[in-house]
Amino acid sequence: MSADPRSTPALSTPAETIGPHVARATLAIHGGRTHPAIGEAVVSPLVQSVNHVLSVGTTDGVLYTRYANTPNAVAVQRKLALLEGAEASLVLASGMGATTCTMLALLRPGDHLITSEWIYGGTRRFFEQELPALGVTVTEVSPDAPRQWRRAVTPATRAIFLESPVNPTTRVLDMRPISALAREAGLALVVDSTFASPINFRPLEHGADVVIHSATKYLNGHHDILAGVVCGSESMVDEVRQKMMIWGQAPDPFALWLLERGLKTLDVRVQRQNRNAQQIAEWATTHPRIARVHYPGLPTHPDHALAREMLDGFGGMLAIELAGGGDATPAVLERLRLITHAPSLGGVDSLVSEPRYTSHAHMTPDARAAIGIPDGFLRLSIGLEDPADLIADLAQALE
Ligand SMILES: *Cc1c(COP(=O)(O)O)cnc(C)c1O
Repeated sequence: MSADPRSTPALSTPAETIGPHVARATLAIHGGRTHPAIGEAVVSPLVQSVNHVLSVGTTDGVLYTRYANTPNAVAVQRKLALLEGAEASLVLASGMGATTCTMLALLRPGDHLITSEWIYGGTRRFFEQELPALGVTVTEVSPDAPRQWRRAVTPATRAIFLESPVNPTTRVLDMRPISALAREAGLALVVDSTFASPINFRPLEHGADVVIHSATKYLNGHHDILAGVVCGSESMVDEVRQKMMIWGQAPDPFALWLLERGLKTLDVRVQRQNRNAQQIAEWATTHPRIARVHYPGLPTHPDHALAREMLDGFGGMLAIELAGGGDATPAVLERLRLITHAPSLGGVDSLVSEPRYTSHAHMTPDARAAIGIPDGFLRLSIGLEDPADLIADLAQALE
């Protein structure tokens, strides 16, 4: 192997790469790579070049950043496929890019999509505003009424979309009956697994066909890049890649490099976030100014038993409802000194946001309350700080 620093990293064949025989914590660090040879870089080099030299007289081997086939894309896509237990993965410019390109690949004018009502606000807007304009009809099903899934199926239905755990309510969906229905009716089951990360849940093990992540969140984990991931079969991922190339949703090499770097600590980060969030959720249930705590690790959570059965960890996301309702949130947000008032989630810094002003701002207060987000609802993304410091910060802000 050449030690020339100008050379691109070797694209090893799957037979030589570190693959599914090692544990997920090991995959996060070494997955998809060969063991570095003497003189080779230990870390995947950043190849910040849009274009790569062509071979003469053939259409083969065109490497271009928008095609997601350049060295930093290939390296991180292998690792992500291994972490999800998928045949292939594709990294796109954002989580929304991952969802939109997946739907463009699956649906044609005249087709019908069934979606859970409990989904990220941006996804909901894509389904409500953009898909109908493309001639796709959409039926929203409340997971509280599970018999509606089957009733919603029509001869034009092509896919079912769901998100679990749900942003921001932390509800957990039982995928098993939905994946059985999808199989029976020949529908693609697409799952946004952003909140869980592959450390806590792997939808493909429960009958999903496609897994989507906002890699902006746990996968990168440091609040410094925007990216999305699609995992599934080689053929499915290739169809999404075709859409990504045309709709221009490819990520930049530096974002891919940072994502690979962030992934190395995914297992330790998520394990610690699971523990921190559990501790903070338990503390929050005892506080007089907090009316309700939403965390799947609490026995009072409506899906606690299901979460115990389905998830390997309850996650780093929790929500609280202030006893003082919507009027009580400004004072608390202004007094916090460690927990930062910002959108997004899943990083090393703890964040707090108010969905009525962020992800769910486009809905009326009544519509939000109907899906479990009343005014006074604060979403917390628990980071890697010492949990006692986070509890002290919340306690002083609630005084
Ligand atoms: C943030 C988020 C998205 C969108 O991801 P971006 O990277 O911001 O485009 C999609 N789904 C869920 C559950 C999210 O939290």
